Amino acid sequence: MLLKGKIALVTGASRGIGKEIARRFIEEGATVWGLATKPSVGAEELSEFATKHGSVYHELIADIGDPSSVQPVITAALKESGGFSILVNNAGITKDGLSFRMKLEDWESVLKINLTGTFLVTQIVSNDMIRKRAGSIINLSSIVGLHGQGGQVNYAASKAGLVGYSKSLAKETAGRGVRVNAVAPGYIETEMTDAIPEEARKVWLESIPMKRAGSVTEVADTVVFLASDLSKYITAQVIGVDGGMGA
Ligand code: NAP
Repeated sequence: MLLKGKIALVTGASRGIGKEIARRFIEEGATVWGLATKPSVGAEELSEFATKHGSVYHELIADIGDPSSVQPVITAALKESGGFSILVNNAGITKDGLSFRMKLEDWESVLKINLTGTFLVTQIVSNDMIRKRAGSIINLSSIVGLHGQGGQVNYAASKAGLVGYSKSLAKETAGRGVRVNAVAPGYIETEMTDAIPEEARKVWLESIPMKRAGSVTEVADTVVFLASDLSKYITAQVIGVDGGMGA
């Protein structure tokens, strides 16, 4: 029970990595508030899972890229929950395409959701953490933000932005008891990566030193570590979960 008594907010909790983070948090004793754009089967499953563990899963609906949608929802959840001791900014999207023909709206929407959305949620939650002098914030970056990837200039810029954002925020909050770290997954099997064509998938797998994709649980376990007191002297770091790809 690494997170017993903790209250966590996880964005993008309806499926994929975020859903698994929420599930592992519940297993470790945390109460989880999970946010997505719409009600989902994933949230129903997390609710059932929480009940089995004697806990409650709280579903929040908002678009993190839209201040008028997300700010009131997070403010109300903060009040109702009594404050979050863990925040995981996991929600993210891709709109891939080569740079020279990328539409401005595809550039802007990825930056708006992946980067500005994280800023909007974190600003509200971290102010409360700072007041209480305790908290752990974990932002989901990507190996693509560290090493680049053709066809993903918008996504790479947003994920590289999250690295600078996390390290800078960590320096602002370190003296006030709030830690901020980023996790940079490599190739993880989810709906996001299901969209990759078979040929590209083979090339990608070949480039991973461990010769396999990662699982959502392997990412979630790293997030549990960063959320827990096991990592209490770790801040402003980016941890790769990538089978050696980023080395
Ligand atoms: P996913 O399966 O596509 O799930 C994305 C989640 O984000 C969903 O819960 C979705 O909610 C939510 N979301 C999207 N736009 C949102 C918005 N505007 N407001 C609120 N929630 C929103 O993604 P994933 O593969 O699990 O990836 C999770 C995170 O890890 C992302 O930040 C991704 O960039 C990062 N990552 C993934 C991989 C990988 O290999 N999968 C690798 C590196 C980094 P709805 O269900 O409502 O749409």
